[in-house]
Amino acid sequence: MTTRSSPAIAPILPGQTLGVLGGGQLGRMFTIAARRLGYRVHVLVPGNDTPTGQVADLEINADYEDLDAVARFAKGVSVVTFEFENVSAAATDTAAKYAPVRPAGSVLHTTQHRLREKTFLRDAGLPVTPFAPVRSLEELNRTLVQRGAASPTPIGVLKTASWGYDGKGQSVIRKPTDAGDAWASLKTDEAILEDFIDFECELSVVAVRGMDGSFTSLGPMLNTHVHHILDTSVTPTMLGDKIERQAIDIARATVEKLNVVGVLCVEFFLTRSGKLLINELAPRPHNSGHLTIDAHVSCQFEQQVRSICGLPLGSTRLHAPAAMANLLGDLWQHGEPNWHALLDHRDVKLHLYGKNDPRKGRKMGHLTVLGTTPEEARAKALAAREALTLKS
Ligand code: AMP
Repeated sequence: MTTRSSPAIAPILPGQTLGVLGGGQLGRMFTIAARRLGYRVHVLVPGNDTPTGQVADLEINADYEDLDAVARFAKGVSVVTFEFENVSAAATDTAAKYAPVRPAGSVLHTTQHRLREKTFLRDAGLPVTPFAPVRSLEELNRTLVQRGAASPTPIGVLKTASWGYDGKGQSVIRKPTDAGDAWASLKTDEAILEDFIDFECELSVVAVRGMDGSFTSLGPMLNTHVHHILDTSVTPTMLGDKIERQAIDIARATVEKLNVVGVLCVEFFLTRSGKLLINELAPRPHNSGHLTIDAHVSCQFEQQVRSICGLPLGSTRLHAPAAMANLLGDLWQHGEPNWHALLDHRDVKLHLYGKNDPRKGRKMGHLTVLGTTPEEARAKALAAREALTLKS
């Protein structure tokens, strides 16, 4: 459902040029959606022949901290968005002198730092994993002592405050004597200790907010992770209307309180007692939303284009229950995957990101399957992925 609260501001119309900071698969799928709508796209990225650059009109190879390059890039576009959120305030402030940045640099500032993000959510009255700041081993030991023997096992998860993703920069603390190794492994002077959540499952909502305050959402998606990396997503979640509605309401409150214009994904834990807790925010489209390309009328990338351009948000109607399975570089470890066997699964939609270095754990692509139920879609997606390992 889409709702509006105030009149639209002058929109950026097809034919104009959109700018994206970051050259990965999220920028690639944004660019494909933008070009389908008749926009041109420029990307600024440190590197060349990137997944986004391959499909953009112009790839500018520069570091995000090269402020002269950022200024030149922003002067050439009508709006700047990003697919990589660890861009400094100096870079977003520079871009903002020449073109609107959506979501704004202030949203990035909050969400690129776990302590700022969780403090913001807690102060906004939104449900978030209980946490404490940790700035030294002594502080970590003190915090663990305060938790005392009442703590369940494992006690918590220690995460770097910045630059963490896909489980990188985090360490599970099972007992107080793990503290020294956990602190040393993070190589940081600012961390966050979260309660370890013995969750029932993980889910996410892709929230979309327009310039006029309009709101729509995709999902929730039910997500499974392997080694902290997203493995599969399905929608609907099979968790029932009440939980799905609550997740969407929390996602809506989050983008409204953060004053987001654009797309923001809210990742949740559902605890065994049925409570939703926010684990993390991503101020951009999200891997769990990739199934929306094939399963919804307007996918998360089209919604990103529409929202940052000040256009009406698209319909999020679901064509059918859907499942997404990630394709990691691990699938290339014994040679080229068996694409023929995969594509023999006729209803699979294959998405590859144009990366030519299939390292273990690297996201190389994904596949999506629609089904009559989420379980059926998921079983088909897993069977299709399995076919990639068949000997040809
Ligand atoms: P993150 O990078 O913080 O999203 O963490 C990656 C994954 O690690 C999550 O999707 C969870 O599967 C797991 N994880 C992260 N934080 C916690 C926590 N506080 N309790 C239990 N599992 C967690």
